Amino acid sequence: MDFIKQEDALYYLTAEDIMISSEKVAHVQLNNPLEHALLILLKSGYSAVPVLDSKYRFKGTIGKGSILNETLGLERFEMENLSTKTVESIMDTDIPCLKKSANFFECLKILIDYSFICIIDENGFFDGIVTRRAILKQMNQYFHVNKDVFKLL
Ligand code: AMP
Repeated sequence: MDFIKQEDALYYLTAEDIMISSEKVAHVQLNNPLEHALLILLKSGYSAVPVLDSKYRFKGTIGKGSILNETLGLERFEMENLSTKTVESIMDTDIPCLKKSANFFECLKILIDYSFICIIDENGFFDGIVTRRAILKQMNQYFHVNKDVFKLL
């Protein structure tokens, strides 16, 4: 084979093709106390998860690092902050999101700086996430399937 078949081209993949759908994504809610968010993060093993409102609209992300930062006092860990502060008060809101129709390369570009991208619809409802792992998996498969073409170049 000395050409890349259209169905093997990464360009034709959309975020929808490679995303983890919302039902399978661990998340926390705006009004959850930080201790609940930390529990979800530690139990799931993820370093950050999406934050949603009660209607499943995407609002931001929260990570272990920023939660632990809230416990840093001048002379001791202020663990009480974990029950008094909410996710909403410290979550990151300045993060890029994409629609399900975004193409592979739009996802790849954002995943250089973020470990996952949130996929939302036109009304802000959460559809799922695309992870670095999903992108790397597709690239690995692409180079493997087309290895004969790359040898010829
Ligand atoms: P990965 O590329 O699989 O290592 O995933 C990158 C990041 O995406 C993880 O560190 C988590 O922050 C997030 N993530 C992956 N899968 C899930 C999931 N099922 N639920 C929530 N967050 C996830």
